[in-house]
Amino acid sequence: MFRTHTCGELRLEDKNKKVILSGWVQKIRDKGGLIWIDLRDRYGITQLLIEDGRSNSIVIDAVRKLGREYVIQAKGTVIERLSKNPNIPTGNIEIDLSEIQILNSSLTPPFTIEDETDGGEELRMKYRYLDLRRQPLRSNLELRNRLSIETRKYLDSQNFFEIETPYLIKSTPEGARDFVVPSRMNEGQFYALPQSPQTFKQLLMVAGYDRYYQLVKCFRDEDLRADRQPEFTQIDCEMAFVDQDDVLKTFEGMVKHLFKTVKEIELSDFPRMEYSDAMRLYGSDKPDIRFDMKFVELNDVAQNKGFKVFDDAELVVGIVAKECADYTRKQLDKLTEFVRRPQIGAKGLVYVKCNEDGTYKSSVDKFFDQDSLNKWATKTNAKKGDLILVLSGEKDKVRKQLNELRLEMGTQLNLRNPNNFAPLWVVDFPLLEWDEDSERFHAMHHPFTSPKHEDINLLDSNPGDVRANAYDLVINGSEIGGGSIRIHDRDLQKLMFKHLGFSDEEAQEQFGFLLNAFEYGAPPHGGIALGFDRLTALFGGQDSIRDFIAFPKNNSGRDMMIDSPSSIAEDQLDELGLGLIPKD
Ligand code: ASP
Repeated sequence: MFRTHTCGELRLEDKNKKVILSGWVQKIRDKGGLIWIDLRDRYGITQLLIEDGRSNSIVIDAVRKLGREYVIQAKGTVIERLSKNPNIPTGNIEIDLSEIQILNSSLTPPFTIEDETDGGEELRMKYRYLDLRRQPLRSNLELRNRLSIETRKYLDSQNFFEIETPYLIKSTPEGARDFVVPSRMNEGQFYALPQSPQTFKQLLMVAGYDRYYQLVKCFRDEDLRADRQPEFTQIDCEMAFVDQDDVLKTFEGMVKHLFKTVKEIELSDFPRMEYSDAMRLYGSDKPDIRFDMKFVELNDVAQNKGFKVFDDAELVVGIVAKECADYTRKQLDKLTEFVRRPQIGAKGLVYVKCNEDGTYKSSVDKFFDQDSLNKWATKTNAKKGDLILVLSGEKDKVRKQLNELRLEMGTQLNLRNPNNFAPLWVVDFPLLEWDEDSERFHAMHHPFTSPKHEDINLLDSNPGDVRANAYDLVINGSEIGGGSIRIHDRDLQKLMFKHLGFSDEEAQEQFGFLLNAFEYGAPPHGGIALGFDRLTALFGGQDSIRDFIAFPKNNSGRDMMIDSPSSIAEDQLDELGLGLIPKD
């Protein structure tokens, strides 16, 4: 028997028990007469005690040979510790070691395997199996496991079926770039890895499965922005005979269930916000509503006073930072620098301090007298002691810029506590968005999303104004999920493809299987997919998803541990009919 207990299990009640533990040597402290070993496994850490003179000399000799990360089996008796450690659950006891067996030795690890490590990112990725021994990562994966179990429990309770869909599918030009896989048996032809199981889950609805879900890997060959993984996991779902409200209720229920069971947090009902309001009030389709600081449009009080920057602007818009009128010159300069950074791109920042004595001090005093500034304060509902921050310019751009500034102020004022959770649904997204590069409309969500019925007649005249039956789940300013009610009518789907620039032949070639299926009794249906990695990171109170994935890729899409991607042998290429492609 390797062990009678785990390293996280023993308590004072176990005093005097003879036990066997197995695990890794985390730390050895040798104080001459006394030696302590921290023995670690997945469950925790237990301290072993060896005492010169009292412990067996063979044991002492063996212990002196140990190094960090050796795997050992330790036999001994549970005793009460003299100096207890309240920080760990086993901190009241230690094991008086009577026998030890070295099960395997270890090289000195390249970084310390403790909660705080000295290992840099690259090194930790290369030795991921060592990094995964650290408690913070272990608890991240434990959280992930709990969330997947509770997700399945909830969806099972709601009659969802977990059904697997294929990973080797067909490449389509919509959406992000596909990862492709050459087919040996069909030379010159390729599979694509799914960006999502979208069409398959819709076909499952045509097949009558009614409620489908899958915790599924999806693959997108995008240029990696920070914290994007080329392969990631979604909780992917689809339901038949539902409208938008049914889908939102079902998945609001799921998210509430997860918060309750995993974090013991009872969330109240999620607000719903139209996309156009989200853009107008927060400059973002994923507003962080943990704090207020809504945008206030100031054109009517700020224009036509001779300040050209405002007069020429499509939009003048501000936010109020509560109790920030005492910001120093330096702090304000920093904010100006912040909005001027190329990633944000504002030309400048206008501020108004609402002084405690009722006067105003602004960066545009030359153009605006106290009376005018008072109008700004009234309009923005700024009080004495507050600071108004104003940007101006072209509407869409300035909203994006002010969104960045709002989030920065939220951070500076500690309004974005990761332990507060503020979910909401953003609904009524535009169906189409104009793409400057290809000079045509693209589906904002995907081509299977249904337009709102009342907007269908705008498809020809004002395609940009058509709203979709699409919704996003946003929590703390992060897009956690998105979905839509789908088109289930063949003619409407064909019309949609036409508006997206597909010829009839192209639509038939790429999506013929779906169009055909719609001729055999497709029920009304809709669904959603939630980003499981991001959801887990959110539950773990962190921004980065990387440490919630056991074996992630780095920012260049590389697995540093197995060193992939890699070139393949000439004969493998030949076999795939790719022999002529030059390797660089
Ligand atoms: N397939 C979509 C996505 O991956 C989600 C959905 O519409 O259900 O974003």
